[in-house]
Amino acid sequence: MAYDVHIIGGGLAGSEAAWQLAQRGVQVRLSEMRGSGEMTPAHQTDGLAELVCSNSFRSDDDENNAVGLLHHEMRQMDSLVMRAGEVARVPAGSAMAVDRDVFSAEVEKALSDHPNVEIVRERIDQLPGAGLTIIATGPLTAQSLAQSIVAATGEERLAFFDAIAPIVHRDSINMDVAWIQSRWNKRTEASNAEGDYINCPMTKEQYLTFHQALIDGEKTEFREWEQDTPYFDGCMPIEVMAERGVDTLRFGPMKPVGLDNPNDVTDEYPQGRWPYAVVQLRQDNKLGTLWNMVGFQTKLKYGAQVELFRTIPGLENAEFARLGGLHRNTFLNSPIVLDRQLRLKAAPHIRFAGQVTGCEGYVESAAIGLISGMMAAQELAGRDWTPPPASTAIGALLSHITGDAEADTFQPMNVNFGLFPPLHDVKKKQRKLAYTTRAKSELTTWLAEPNPVVA
Ligand SMILES: Cc1cc2nc3c(=O)[nH]c(=O)nc-3n(C[C@H](O)[C@H](O)[C@H](O)COP(=O)(O)OP(=O)(O)OC[C@H]3O[C@@H](n4cnc5c(N)ncnc54)[C@H](O)[C@@H]3O)c2cc1C
Repeated sequence: MAYDVHIIGGGLAGSEAAWQLAQRGVQVRLSEMRGSGEMTPAHQTDGLAELVCSNSFRSDDDENNAVGLLHHEMRQMDSLVMRAGEVARVPAGSAMAVDRDVFSAEVEKALSDHPNVEIVRERIDQLPGAGLTIIATGPLTAQSLAQSIVAATGEERLAFFDAIAPIVHRDSINMDVAWIQSRWNKRTEASNAEGDYINCPMTKEQYLTFHQALIDGEKTEFREWEQDTPYFDGCMPIEVMAERGVDTLRFGPMKPVGLDNPNDVTDEYPQGRWPYAVVQLRQDNKLGTLWNMVGFQTKLKYGAQVELFRTIPGLENAEFARLGGLHRNTFLNSPIVLDRQLRLKAAPHIRFAGQVTGCEGYVESAAIGLISGMMAAQELAGRDWTPPPASTAIGALLSHITGDAEADTFQPMNVNFGLFPPLHDVKKKQRKLAYTTRAKSELTTWLAEPNPVVA
């Protein structure tokens, strides 16, 4: 079959992109390597849109939860993943969980039956030199294609390992205890007036207790196929550093020198004393709503992280936009290499979608697949593209990965309210509802615009 768009990868994102294009009358070739004798280390079947781990799409609450809002928005945009999810749905309280086999079969049937889609079981090893293409090969992109991507983007622009430090919502940090200051008050042209780091001080006793808890805390194991991947410089888990000696952290990421605690002022230290140790947080998005814990990549289990990190002075009530982790994951430094339409700046006929763009999670990957399909359809028709407003969940996620995230610390991200333009004037208790109400209204307006985004 002749085709207009070539989609590589039949996971969550590739399947959703294929559906969006096909529904708009575009002929699609969908290349999926599973089923041709190839497999990824995590998949177990040949089915399209296989869920490799949990069977949950997380919260379905579209009033108080960002991923629930994303479900709502995807339903408004005729998402195949949401359609199939409804058919495959199993009871899970306020979450949306699915029977994974029914779900995958539904997605595959919808695409196989579609007259505009041809599914080809083949592994693609090179970025195509011409023709509209969507690469949706996911966190476990086949090696050969990954090499071809590296050749187009530069080695340092494609990561193979995800070393995530926890990210905290700024408005949950106790600024009566923590303070803002750059070490030695050093500034650059890009610096904030007050300083670039939020500093959380620790006494000797607090530090020693914290150090021991890091060593004792419950960790997740590397999967068998991840074990050969070495830690990269600067990505060593905090608990591994802790094991090297009691002072390793105090001379590393928890170094207190040059940081004057304004809450510990004496005659001798009129600007404040240096604490025994410090946990620093650095701004993670341009909105300034999310801050990452510097150097705190970890393999501690999620529950252990929340419990331990809330013992840090200033983070007693911390709300985490994401917790730390370390696992194999192929993803681009999208804020640098992609344009606002997910196109590779160096080869604009190629678009990326799904987790390889630096979003994280089934639903987010499908959402970026959905929007990439819409974009490609617009481009093919020679029409302008108006992105969804950044106040919507899909718009916020898209803005984040295509430019609003800090490129230096870019790590895959789930959708969360910290990515939305803040509503500081709304009381904290009512803020989530305010975000979702605004998003729904602005999505409706966007969908009604002459930009004919829905078939
Ligand atoms: C081990 C593991 C566990 C995870 N657990 C969860 C979880 O519990 N919940 C959650 O929300 N997210 C989880 N994720 C993240 C999850 O993988 C992604 O969110 C989601 O599957 C990504 O969707 P995607 O379409 O981008 O990639 P995928 O769903 O992985 O699809 C990519 C597809 O591309 C194919 N492919 C790769 N290279 C080629 C090539 N060269 N040619 C042709 N085809 C190719 C692959 O076979 C695959 O089918 C997990 C990820 C991993 C690796």
